[in-house]
Amino acid sequence: MDNCIFCKILHNEIPAQKIYEDEDAIAFNDINPAAPVHFLIIPRIHIPSLIECEKTHQQILGKMLLLAPEIAKEQGCTDGFRTIINTGRVGGQEVFHLHIHIIGSKDRLPTMIHKN
Ligand code: 5GP
Ligand code: ZN
Repeated sequence: MDNCIFCKILHNEIPAQKIYEDEDAIAFNDINPAAPVHFLIIPRIHIPSLIECEKTHQQILGKMLLLAPEIAKEQGCTDGFRTIINTGRVGGQEVFHLHIHIIGSKDRLPTMIHKN
């Protein structure tokens, strides 16, 4: 995808602090971290968001989810972390290349879902 910032990171056209790479996915630190650990896992194929995912993406979705704890532990998250996938306008998605946020800290993260 020509104008996709994450595709550009994938193809080394713009720099990023990559922390993991394999044939299907990469992970790199978020440029504007929300916590001491904040990285993104993205697939090598350009899928705009979770809404566009189909049965054929089952394997890469599962793989990305299993990579989350593996890389999180390597990054020092030994006592848990948060995973977020923002989807579409309502989900507040800003970059339209599917990504999982992994956010970690030594302290408990702030409550994200507030109920009435
Ligand atoms: P979204 O709101 O789409 O779920 O999150 C996009 C994330 O990508 C944001 O947390 C933002 O800080 C991060 N981001 C946007 N542009 C870049 C970039 O050029 N490099 C890196 N490393 N992260 C980026
Ligand atoms: Zn892309």
